[in-house]
Amino acid sequence: MTSSKVELPAEVKTDAAALMASLHLMPSPVPNPEIKYTKIFINNEWQASESGKVFPTYNPSSGEKICDVQEADQADVEKAVKAARAAFALGSPWRRMDASERGRLLGKLADLVERDSAYLATLESLDSGKPFLAALFVDLQGTIKTLRYYAGWADKIHGLTIPIDGEYFTMTRQEPIGVCGQIIPWNFPLMMMAWKLGPALCCGNTLVLKPAEQTPLTALYMASLVKEAGFPPGVVNILPGYGPTAGATIFHMGIDKVAFTGSAEVGKLIQEAAGRSNLKRVTLELGGKSPNIIFADADLDLAVEQAHQGVFFQQRVSAAGLKGLAVEESIYDEFVRRSVERAKRKVVGSPFDPTTEQGPQVTQEQRQRIMELIQSGVREGAKLECGGSVGAGKGFFVEPTVFSNVTDNMRFAKEEIFGPVQQILKFKTLEEAIERANDTDYGLVAAVFTNDLNKAMTVSTSVQAGTVWINCYNALSCQCPFGGFKMSGNGRELGEYGLKEYSEVKTITMKMTGKNS
Ligand code: ADP
Ligand code: MG
Repeated sequence: MTSSKVELPAEVKTDAAALMASLHLMPSPVPNPEIKYTKIFINNEWQASESGKVFPTYNPSSGEKICDVQEADQADVEKAVKAARAAFALGSPWRRMDASERGRLLGKLADLVERDSAYLATLESLDSGKPFLAALFVDLQGTIKTLRYYAGWADKIHGLTIPIDGEYFTMTRQEPIGVCGQIIPWNFPLMMMAWKLGPALCCGNTLVLKPAEQTPLTALYMASLVKEAGFPPGVVNILPGYGPTAGATIFHMGIDKVAFTGSAEVGKLIQEAAGRSNLKRVTLELGGKSPNIIFADADLDLAVEQAHQGVFFQQRVSAAGLKGLAVEESIYDEFVRRSVERAKRKVVGSPFDPTTEQGPQVTQEQRQRIMELIQSGVREGAKLECGGSVGAGKGFFVEPTVFSNVTDNMRFAKEEIFGPVQQILKFKTLEEAIERANDTDYGLVAAVFTNDLNKAMTVSTSVQAGTVWINCYNALSCQCPFGGFKMSGNGRELGEYGLKEYSEVKTITMKMTGKNS
């Protein structure tokens, strides 16, 4: 996910030679990075798991173990919730802190992330397999900007005075919700953490956050920066561990709100559990199958490249990854030809090689899921234009894969594929394209490529999706809200809208002895 401002330089995507020429300007990966933090972070202290259990995290490029990490489960979550509740208690340093000081701490955290960004990008690449330069330009920039954005908001969140009927004076306050449980996935480990941490802390909440078991390392390093920035103990607690154990305990009665990014399957469990416990606030970001509609009048070079990036960006780990593109009939064959040619040029390899555009998938299991969906596409009669196999070597690589002759009813056209697989569908009319784009349970993002304003706006206003991109893709930024229609989620992250999800509105009404004028 990029913003228009922090997008990778064009050279990184397409022209390896130009990239090599500018390499001296870019930070390098840290060689043999030391893994400093592998424990559970509660009350600003590093703690071993109560059970004594650890779990391994792997380097997806080699399949080898990087290190063991302390495995949090219910007992550790209990401890963390206790710490977060104490930090949120009335009269605590955090509750007494000026809003401007909360903003200063968030700004300091952003500065520390910036200071250590080469190290953090190295760690992100090592643990997740994404190319180092992508981690640096997209994930780290996205993290720093999000933290700074919310640092700026901290002392600008205020209520209204409202002229109600009768002899009263009425005002509203926006107050923090309390202890937030936050669960994040492996696709953008650090950036998803910033999306959760930034607004929660900005509004004055405390939190218990569980990173994905596949990618725990950058969240733990970030915890050390939280402490260094000067946040009081218990405000931020980080618990590495598995979903059904550590994650499921986030349903704890001591937690006032859960924010989750991940699969719809787990999102349903979370919503159900919230209903069964204390009706805690729930926000969900659940991915989707995102349509991209390309009309015959579009700038074809732009559309081919953006559609390619939409699918293959960071080995297609973005939940905003494309469903498949629906391409207008008259340009279909040419579009497929150019897309295949582009995919074949894709540089797949070590995340630390600066020319690499696509690294390995995050785990063997994820790769297996992708391969099964590719095989189902072949079985159901889609035409495999290129790729379709696992890559060479021990890492969890998948070849850049393009399918044509894909139809809406094929299994792999309906299920989300977190992998480098492009599916190209065909449409005849605008009305048909919109109807088919909306014929899904999901609605995270959509895109349209055309030079006809009327078509662009008709699609934008008709497609049921939280974000619509016109003649661009992944133009995502911390200043604007992001989230899904339908089964893609509940609530919005980022922007001013994101603040609403981390605060409660209180109405205070005072009886006056005379009517206020
Ligand atoms: P994926 O299958 O792509 O890894 P998941 O939804 O399983 O997506 O994972 C996203 C996050 O949700 C991870 O941090 C994972 O540990 C967590 N998780 C998985 N299962 C549960 C669960 N039952 N309860 C709470 N969290 C869970
Ligand atoms: Mg890993």
